[in-house]
Amino acid sequence: MTDVLAVADHRQGSLRDVSFELVTAAAKLTEQTSGDLHLLIIGGPVEEFAEKLNLQGVDVIHTVDEGMEFNHDVYVQAVTQVYKAVAAEYVVAPNSANGLDYAPAVANTLDLPLATDVIGLDATDATLAVTREMYGGKVATTNELDGSAVVTIRGAEWPMAAETGTASVKTVDFSLDEGSVGSRVTGFRETTGGGVDISEADVLVSIGRGIDEEENLNIIRELAESLDATISCSRPIVDSGWLPKNRQVGQSGKVVTPDVYLAIGISGAVQHVAGMKGSDTIVAINTDTDAPIMDIADYAIHDDLFDVVPALTEQFQ
Ligand SMILES: Cc1cc2nc3c(=O)[nH]c(=O)nc-3n(C[C@H](O)[C@H](O)[C@H](O)COP(=O)(O)OP(=O)(O)OC[C@H]3O[C@@H](n4cnc5c(N)ncnc54)[C@H](O)[C@@H]3O)c2cc1C
Repeated sequence: MTDVLAVADHRQGSLRDVSFELVTAAAKLTEQTSGDLHLLIIGGPVEEFAEKLNLQGVDVIHTVDEGMEFNHDVYVQAVTQVYKAVAAEYVVAPNSANGLDYAPAVANTLDLPLATDVIGLDATDATLAVTREMYGGKVATTNELDGSAVVTIRGAEWPMAAETGTASVKTVDFSLDEGSVGSRVTGFRETTGGGVDISEADVLVSIGRGIDEEENLNIIRELAESLDATISCSRPIVDSGWLPKNRQVGQSGKVVTPDVYLAIGISGAVQHVAGMKGSDTIVAINTDTDAPIMDIADYAIHDDLFDVVPALTEQFQ
């Protein structure tokens, strides 16, 4: 019997999708080992979050009502205290900016191994098998960890848990060591791009090097407007400074799972595909039938984007 502690992720008063994916991933582990799944919510409107995360597979929800926003030191202290209190084996955290900030410190404090950006998890009572990608996503490797561990899971790799559960909700008797809190949260500001979060978009119009010149982005903006879609891109567009980093899809960008992903003039390199392969419907526009994106597209339009995009815009308008 192996218990798991999963840590919810939220931002600006809203739970992030990965919190629901964490429940699916962690519940599978506790099913495999007949252990209990403890879910920890730190900060934010904890009661509202606890209600939303009371999902099938969760045994106990622990809430720490400490601050509205992410604070590194608070998270490290809360996760380590609850981990010890419930005697869990594994900590499962999101591979988000927050998760990647506190999970290594938690592993260090608890003297546990850490596996980040995990895309597969399998447990027995003795070992935890973690699957990760290597060489830019060309190879998946599985390593077995003996004993306890901290893992961060990649977003959009597990389906979001949705079935309502019967977890008990407990307020943690949390004792914050104020002396070791080295940072204070004074507000929240997106780095660039005016607060756009492409990972939350339902329809993405994504542009790659095929656009050729920055001024050609205008036809993409018109298409996006006609579709009420959000614009995202491949890395060369960000490297050229044509769109901000928070619009980049991929291994070193964001993982997205829209209903529709329109890949325009994007070849479909593994590093790009790593970020968008979970899209429901993929539509590719490319002049090259051999481009890898054409293989994974549900609809492949083999044509020049400068002809197809204005025609589509006209249709949608
Ligand atoms: C460590 C590492 C991390 C990386 N992380 C990322 C990442 O997060 N995201 C990412 O995207 N990349 C990433 N990359 C870069 C990645 O390897 C590719 O170089 C990149 O994705 C290619 O972008 P692209 O498809 O826009 O350009 P290209 O590969 O140049 O493809 C352009 C495509 O446009 C098509 N095209 C050209 N003209 C037209 C036209 N007129 N009409 C229609 N189609 C046309 C071409 O046929 C081609 O398929 C990373 C690379 C490394 C090494």
